[in-house]
Amino acid sequence: MGPKKGILERLAEGVVIGDGGFVFELEKRGYVMAGPWTPEVTLEHPDAVRELHREYLRAGSDVMQALTFYASDDKLINRGNVAGKKFTGAAVNAAACKIAKEVAAEGDALVLGGISETPTYLSGGGKAAVQAEFRKQIQVFVDHGMDFLLCEYFEYVEEVEWAIEVCKETGKPVASTMCIGPKGDMHGVPAGECAVRMAKAGADIVGVNCHFDPFVSLETIKLMKAGLEKAGLKPFLMCQPLGYHTPDAGPQGFIDLLEFPFALEPRLCTRWDFHKFARQAYDLGVRYIGGCCGTQHHHLRAVAEELAKERGKTPLSSEKHAPWGEGLALHTKPWVRARANREFWENLKPATGRPFSASMSEPENWGVTAGSKLMMQHAGVTTEAEQEEVRRFKKGGGKH
Ligand SMILES: [Zn+2]
Repeated sequence: MGPKKGILERLAEGVVIGDGGFVFELEKRGYVMAGPWTPEVTLEHPDAVRELHREYLRAGSDVMQALTFYASDDKLINRGNVAGKKFTGAAVNAAACKIAKEVAAEGDALVLGGISETPTYLSGGGKAAVQAEFRKQIQVFVDHGMDFLLCEYFEYVEEVEWAIEVCKETGKPVASTMCIGPKGDMHGVPAGECAVRMAKAGADIVGVNCHFDPFVSLETIKLMKAGLEKAGLKPFLMCQPLGYHTPDAGPQGFIDLLEFPFALEPRLCTRWDFHKFARQAYDLGVRYIGGCCGTQHHHLRAVAEELAKERGKTPLSSEKHAPWGEGLALHTKPWVRARANREFWENLKPATGRPFSASMSEPENWGVTAGSKLMMQHAGVTTEAEQEEVRRFKKGGGKH
């Protein structure tokens, strides 16, 4: 075997399958705390991180993304988080790279390091301060020979432009996804313009991740694609949506839903939803298809199975999953055997089993964005006075 093909070569040849969500999954498994989303898990519980990478590799992931979400120094000490006193961002990021590389070597996967939005930006910090945070993480990715870089989970196009600029200093391929919906970024920049600005900043791959469900995310991608075509730009398209249905979410996505983050399970997509998503994404021209929060092994495997023909291979874990539920033909009960076909699963409208649950919820829509007083971050613990202010704001319907 020759050297591994790079990400841009793979995308030019066909479809690349990303990985699934890490922090939500590890939170449910008891290794990560919701809120700071404790990326120090790479030092505290490396086996848990390794196992999840391995599950995604078995599901068909072509990339192992080092678990570096929110692993910037300013986040590790934000709002009373003590992680920054115990660990340096560099150590957390290095451990993440090491684990990703270890598992990638068990298959033919590439490795990448990602940076995300920073508390410094939310607090109104300037370009130099924000870029200094990014540069520290990226240095670790370069030192560990990551194959490419990803700017992901950005709500403001200005910040992601700054992030892409720093990534470009390395000469590595750069992917860039914002966590925005069809209404655009948090300061009202339209989705199409966001895509154009990411591409112009130098991103080779652009798209969306997190915050919205697969189908809302594809609506955003359509707007991005139209904007890019109009501007004569042709970066690869990438989509890594939530594993939850969010048709009722506002501009801020699932963060605004009352079920975020501890009661989202009734909204979970089925594997069949992800079959549909994979096909629609592929037909739209998206070539980097993965998942974010809420997506699990079976969602990714569904993407890999749906695109098996295009990829010329099935994932390892399809050993335990016949396409479209055909394994049920081995079941003892005849009415279950009758479900061993595509038609049944494709047309099923799953019930929730919750007689009092509404199909949609009322999202909160505070409209508090970067630079707002309530968005200011600090290293100290969130005070009772601050919590009181938040409660007062909520009572007032989230309005000033
Ligand atoms: Zn996410």
